[in-house]
Amino acid sequence: MHDVVVVGGGPAGLSVAIALAQGGVNTALIARRAPYADNRTTALLGGSVGFLEQLDVWPRCRDKAAQLQVMRLVDDTGRLIRAPEIRFSSDEIGLDAFGYNIDNAALMTALEERAAALSNLVRFDDEADTISPGDAGVAIGTVHGKSLSARLVVGADGRQSLCREAASIEVRRRGLNQAAATFNISHSRPHRNISTEFHTSQGPCVFVPLPGGRCSVVWVAAPSEAERLIALTDDELSEAAERQSHSILGRINVEPGRHLFPLAIEHIRQFAKARIALVGEAAHVLPPIGAQGLNMGLRDAADIADIVRDAMLSGLDPGSPQMLKRYDSARRTDIASRTFAIDVANRSLLSDFLPMQTLRAAGLHLIGAIGPLRRIAMREGLAPSWRSTRRVI
Ligand SMILES: Cc1cc2nc3c(=O)[nH]c(=O)nc-3n(C[C@H](O)[C@H](O)[C@H](O)COP(=O)(O)OP(=O)(O)OC[C@H]3O[C@@H](n4cnc5c(N)ncnc54)[C@H](O)[C@@H]3O)c2cc1C
Repeated sequence: MHDVVVVGGGPAGLSVAIALAQGGVNTALIARRAPYADNRTTALLGGSVGFLEQLDVWPRCRDKAAQLQVMRLVDDTGRLIRAPEIRFSSDEIGLDAFGYNIDNAALMTALEERAAALSNLVRFDDEADTISPGDAGVAIGTVHGKSLSARLVVGADGRQSLCREAASIEVRRRGLNQAAATFNISHSRPHRNISTEFHTSQGPCVFVPLPGGRCSVVWVAAPSEAERLIALTDDELSEAAERQSHSILGRINVEPGRHLFPLAIEHIRQFAKARIALVGEAAHVLPPIGAQGLNMGLRDAADIADIVRDAMLSGLDPGSPQMLKRYDSARRTDIASRTFAIDVANRSLLSDFLPMQTLRAAGLHLIGAIGPLRRIAMREGLAPSWRSTRRVI
């Protein structure tokens, strides 16, 4: 029997499998080996880079990442009541950078490389087909007919999580009538490590620095508008992006590859049950506002790995109800508060209700004008302040 079986090899699953195996836990990973399928990038904020450094992943990909030193929020709604422009600067809170933006494909290559170097991490290039929790362990059957068992299963199997279903954890899903068009660009003016978020009445359009004169673009809009955007020719999309960015990056040229992501919010009430703990998008789905998704997923990974290692060192069962409860309490506040904050931020942007627009503009005005408030917002945007100082993430 394995101590832990991790199901799913996205960034959250690979991170948790590496953290566990590196901590001496006998771990199996069930994940198909496949090239990363889209052109998304991740803004790794706060302790995420420290965590990846601890996993010996960051040195393998840091040269493919760009520093994020300044974040600008620009109200581009064209409404009567608009918020002032806000500029968050990392040096204001004593940091060189808020974090780094990296191609998910480059991050995944580094994670795969590190996972392959760990001798107590057994990889099954396969998919879980059945997951049956029992009193003493969980039985897992794979699509290729393998049978495995574990004291704890970590479900990192994304939005359609089989692990979540096996644990009978109910998920609440709300479609957002928004979609994100993603593509990368090169541009003639330097980005100077400034990430700029234009808030339109359909959602934010964000230009996030990549190394060299390049940025990744996440353009959130109504689904029909997002579909229209990704159907444009290269020249047309370059022109549309230049217009939307108010030419702050000069002449824009879109690179090959575009993707469309319908947006939703998903949340669950319990993060672990029946010897199954959920991490990453199996546990929470947010719209891409404030770059919170995978950063939360990495904190899930760090926490479950810590709890399992502590349990094993004390000779305890890592899948016992006490350990699951510890994980559930460790993740509850962070996930619930961020899901709420992102939801409110998104709703206030889309709202046609004048008092709501006024409240939003006033709130942003206060954050922009009052130094201590701005610094709290910056620190909280990176990681929750209540996390134990023992943790790097
Ligand atoms: C447009 C966009 C921009 C974003 N930008 C950011 C950002 O800047 N910063 C940030 O922190 N987050 C960002 N996010 C969120 C981030 O991309 C996600 O949180 C992250 O990719 C989720 O990773 P994951 O490993 O949980 O899930 P996934 O990447 O979905 O991985 C799940 C894996 O499990 C596998 N799987 C499923 N079922 C099984 C099974 N039965 N057996 C085995 N394997 C299985 C799947 O094939 C998949 O490989 C963004 C999201 C979007 C849509």
